[in-house]
Amino acid sequence: MGSLLIKNGILVTLNDSSDVLHNGNIYIEGKRIAEVGAFPDDKYKADEVIDAGGHLVLPGLINAHHHLYSTFARGFTPPGDPPRNFIEILEKLWWKVDRALEEEDVYYSALLALMYAARAGCTTVIDHHASPSCTDGSLDLVEKAFRDVGLSGCLCYEVSDRNREGDGIEENERFIKKCKASDDDQITALFGLHASMTLGTKTLTRCADIGHALETGFHVHVAEDRADGDITFSRYKKRLMDRFLDYGIPGAGSIFAHGICLDGRGMDILKTTDSMLVSNPESNMNNGLGVTPLLEMLSRGILVGLGTDGMSSHMISQARAMYLIQRGYRRDPTVAFAEAGEALLKTNRSIVGRLFKDPRGMLAPGCLADIIIPEYVPFTPLSAETFLGHLLFGLSFARINTTIARGRIVVQDGRIPHLDEEKIRAKALEKAQGIWKRIAAM
Ligand SMILES: [Zn+2]
Repeated sequence: MGSLLIKNGILVTLNDSSDVLHNGNIYIEGKRIAEVGAFPDDKYKADEVIDAGGHLVLPGLINAHHHLYSTFARGFTPPGDPPRNFIEILEKLWWKVDRALEEEDVYYSALLALMYAARAGCTTVIDHHASPSCTDGSLDLVEKAFRDVGLSGCLCYEVSDRNREGDGIEENERFIKKCKASDDDQITALFGLHASMTLGTKTLTRCADIGHALETGFHVHVAEDRADGDITFSRYKKRLMDRFLDYGIPGAGSIFAHGICLDGRGMDILKTTDSMLVSNPESNMNNGLGVTPLLEMLSRGILVGLGTDGMSSHMISQARAMYLIQRGYRRDPTVAFAEAGEALLKTNRSIVGRLFKDPRGMLAPGCLADIIIPEYVPFTPLSAETFLGHLLFGLSFARINTTIARGRIVVQDGRIPHLDEEKIRAKALEKAQGIWKRIAAM
């Protein structure tokens, strides 16, 4: 891999002193940033030069909870009466979509979603995958999509007893071992679990034993809806986080998605075990599930990151949704603005810092060269103090002109130069029609 110079940008470094450098340059060597600052354009002989033209330059964004496999559900309406609650949404839609996926669908759903992620400025995605009709080997297909687009990914398979007892255990085990045996840091793995309500005692015991033996963290949904806690209590006489604690699932390497209905005890367990919580506000609103107790979690010192949960691949819109729903729900225009920016830009960086070796999320020497150039020239003053306003009111609507992932240009003038996008979209349309037909026949 060669060298790359980005010149003439407004660099929002997100470094420890939140420096914003007007008319700054970045020199990249291989997959890492070598220098950031006001050095002369001719200081280095770069293989490629990008003139940012006075636009903003930012670190690539991070999505801390995605379901790439959900791509082909776009526009699909499940047959029969519309789902009336969370369990019906799962039964009538998602648990059919995932069962309808065949091997090629797994690859194309991930490929399409990652292409859109790259075009929305996202360079690292933590995914939670399910395809119970082709479980074994499915994570290799998701991995191939990450490599074909050029993004970094942390993958897992969603173990659940809902189709077959223990489905996905071996796939997690195989893939985690494969990642651990490789030096490559582009793809990493967690042990994936669906949610307490679909995991029986035998399965959860096996997952915990294997996960602990492999010294890996877990990625699981928790308290997305009251039903998760209610079912868990009626079957196991345990509250959600207490049940997980019995199996050693919480910990600094584990991600819990949602947590909308967690009680104080559940939040205490997240905090005392230093676990990661990922909030997905757009998805929660779409499913009519309520509001994550974000401010309570933050006041307890819980690490709260941000994901899309398959709703989209656009992270800035998630940060907008995060603060808007808190303000609307609390009838308080003073809350959650800085917290949403922090979740997207800093907490997600801390989360991937626990899952990958290469540092990222900052324009600083030694960091992974994950960099985006949105088409955004500010017309009001831009500084470290005003940046969040630009991010949430302006950048959320800006096209990303250039995305550099791991030192490679993966989006150029809004296009992905190394992929035949039209051919991929045509293939996807064909795949989607097959999936929709299979769901309708279930
Ligand atoms: Zn999810």
